[in-house]
Amino acid sequence: MENYVVEKKIGSGSYGNVFVVHSKIDPSKRYVMKRVPMTGMSAKEKKSANQEVSLLKTLQHPNIVSYRDSFMDNNDKDLCIVMTYCQGGDLSSRIKAYKGQPIPEEQVVRWFIQIALAIEFIHTRRVLHRDLKTQNVFLTKTGQIKLGDFGIARVLNKTMDMAQTSIGTPLYMSPECCNSKPYSFKSDVWSLGCCLYEMMAGKHPFSARDLQGLFLKIAKGQYGPIPPTYSSKLRLVVEKTLTTNPQKRPGVTSLLQNQFLSRQIIDYG
Ligand code: ADP
Ligand code: MG
Repeated sequence: MENYVVEKKIGSGSYGNVFVVHSKIDPSKRYVMKRVPMTGMSAKEKKSANQEVSLLKTLQHPNIVSYRDSFMDNNDKDLCIVMTYCQGGDLSSRIKAYKGQPIPEEQVVRWFIQIALAIEFIHTRRVLHRDLKTQNVFLTKTGQIKLGDFGIARVLNKTMDMAQTSIGTPLYMSPECCNSKPYSFKSDVWSLGCCLYEMMAGKHPFSARDLQGLFLKIAKGQYGPIPPTYSSKLRLVVEKTLTTNPQKRPGVTSLLQNQFLSRQIIDYG
C-alpha cells in the first residue's frame, strides 16, 4: 500500500471495496484498487490466491483491463488488486442510457466483437472469466471495450463459501451452472450471449421474480423476441450462444469464425 494513495471509494462489489488510487511516484497515474478481505483463509490459500492474481497480471490485450499490481495489506488480511481505471463507465449503464431505443446494429457488433476477442484471448490462455456481465465490461473515453474482473471469481470463491459468492448476479448464469455442473469455457459463451441479447433488446434475456423462476427460464432457454430491426444473422449469433446444451453451444473462436462476424472484425477489431 505504500506505493498508492487512495483518492475515493467508488463502490462496493460482491467481493469487497473498490477505490480510485494514484501512484505515489507518479500522481498523474490513476488506477482502480480492489480490496478483498481474505477472512478465514489459511496462509497457504492466501499465497495461492496471490499467485493466481500474479498469473492474471501477465495477461495483456487491448480489450482487457490489465491487472497491474497485487499485494497483501492490513496485516495480511486483505488482498489488494490494482488495475486500469476505466473512466468511460460500464456497458450496463451505456445500454440503459438508450432508454429502450434500439442501439444501431453497427455499434452492437463493434462492442460484441471486442468482448468476444477479449474472451477468446483469455480462453486460449486457459483462463475462464466466470463473471461475465455488462457491469464488468468497461468503456474507455474513446469508446474502446475493456473487459474486467476476469479470473478473479475463482480466486475469491475459495475465500468465501459458495452460498455467499453466488449472491452476485445469477442473471448471466448458464443452464449447466444452474444445475451445479462445473463452470466451463462454454459457460462464458452463454454469458457472452446474455450480454449480446442485452445490447439488442435493452433488457436481460432471462429474468423472473425469484431464483426458481429464473432457473426454470434459463433451463428452457426461454427468452423474449429480439427487435426485428436487427439482421437475422446477428439474431442467429444470439441463438447459437444461448444454446442450452453446452456441448452444442459453440466455443468463442468458432463463433468469431462465423463469416458474418469475421467480415466485420476486419472493420472493427
Ligand atoms: P461487481 O461485483 O458488481 O462487479 P465490482 O467490485 O467489480 O462490482 O465494482 C464495484 C464498482 O466499481 C462498480 O461500480 C464498477 O463499475 C466500478 N469498477 C470496478 N472496476 C473498475 C475499473 N477497472 N474502472 C472503473 N470502474 C471500476
Ligand atoms: Mg466487477
